[in-house]
Amino acid sequence: MRLPLIERYRAHLPVSEKTPVVSLLEGSTPLLPLKGPEEARALGVRLYAKYEGLNPTGSFKDRGMTLAVSKAVEAGAKAVAAASTGNTAASAAAYAARAGIRAIVVLPAGYVALGKVAQSLVHGARIVQVEGNFDQALRLTRELSERYPVALVNSLNPYRLQGQKTLAFEVVDELGDAPHYHALPVGNAGNITAHWMGYKEYHALGKAKRLPRMLGFQAAGAAPLVLGRPVEKPETLATAIRIGNPASWEGAVRAKEESGGLIEAVTDEEILEAYRYLAAEEGIFCEPASAAALAGVWKLLKEGRLEPGSTVVLTLTGHGLKDPGTAERVARLGEAVPARLEAVAEAAGLV
Ligand SMILES: *Cc1c(COP(=O)(O)O)cnc(C)c1O
Repeated sequence: MRLPLIERYRAHLPVSEKTPVVSLLEGSTPLLPLKGPEEARALGVRLYAKYEGLNPTGSFKDRGMTLAVSKAVEAGAKAVAAASTGNTAASAAAYAARAGIRAIVVLPAGYVALGKVAQSLVHGARIVQVEGNFDQALRLTRELSERYPVALVNSLNPYRLQGQKTLAFEVVDELGDAPHYHALPVGNAGNITAHWMGYKEYHALGKAKRLPRMLGFQAAGAAPLVLGRPVEKPETLATAIRIGNPASWEGAVRAKEESGGLIEAVTDEEILEAYRYLAAEEGIFCEPASAAALAGVWKLLKEGRLEPGSTVVLTLTGHGLKDPGTAERVARLGEAVPARLEAVAEAAGLV
């Protein structure tokens, strides 16, 4: 039977008997062996995709949110708040709905695209547009949490990383050990920090014999960790990693250095190539940001920088349906054909 993430890993999480478990049965996502690409097969490199798009709201954010919202309710919060248009807001809204408390999303006016916040709105979140910039929205969200019974569930909330570390536990539980490499996209860098925390904890307990090298990938137009300085106007079609000044900067650098890994950049073209490959050759539809993990590994394979015979896990962070705009741009619909069998067979590529 599928368990709430908090129950499955209770012994490793900061919860007690008094913590109310707010769950949508997140986590326990599939670890799918990939067929390719060709460059991996040739080197005997085994790739696995941890398909986080199959979480309740379509991204790994649910792993952190079950814990953040449970702890918020335990502390008596009547609402949770975040400044986010994306997967964090959607996840906060769903878990708040489940808990019977309010979700508040604070954003600069004019910044809000309905498509991005639609999921949060349907879950009943209050979207507050303020006349100001993103920094002001973030500051006001923090002030709300200081003056009212509102819990902040932005990436600074420490419980989120605690919940997200369970992805590493699941990988080790399933493979019997840590992989040689673990690749993932890096935006605010909370997830790479959390993965590394999880691997180290399992290793310290003797549940994993080795530690993986962490491979973090940023989009070339939003690569502060690669450049070593914040990026003022980050640009990439992978919106979930369009971040110029990561909240968990130090955690990411530590994960890279302690694991002997790397953080590098991939271009939007490389991201799209991996995105198409995963959908069309492997049957896995993920967000463009998620595909950055494969784009990076693919580049390392081509450059001969991965050990032959090694095992690589990719975190595919979010579901492809989150971003129908990119799918529409990549997909090409042909012209209509006459309603005749030969014409249909020809257009279908059968003759
Ligand atoms: C949040 C998110 C990321 C980035 O994760 P960080 O912890 O901010 O580095 C990547 N992909 C998707 C789909 C996300 O929702």
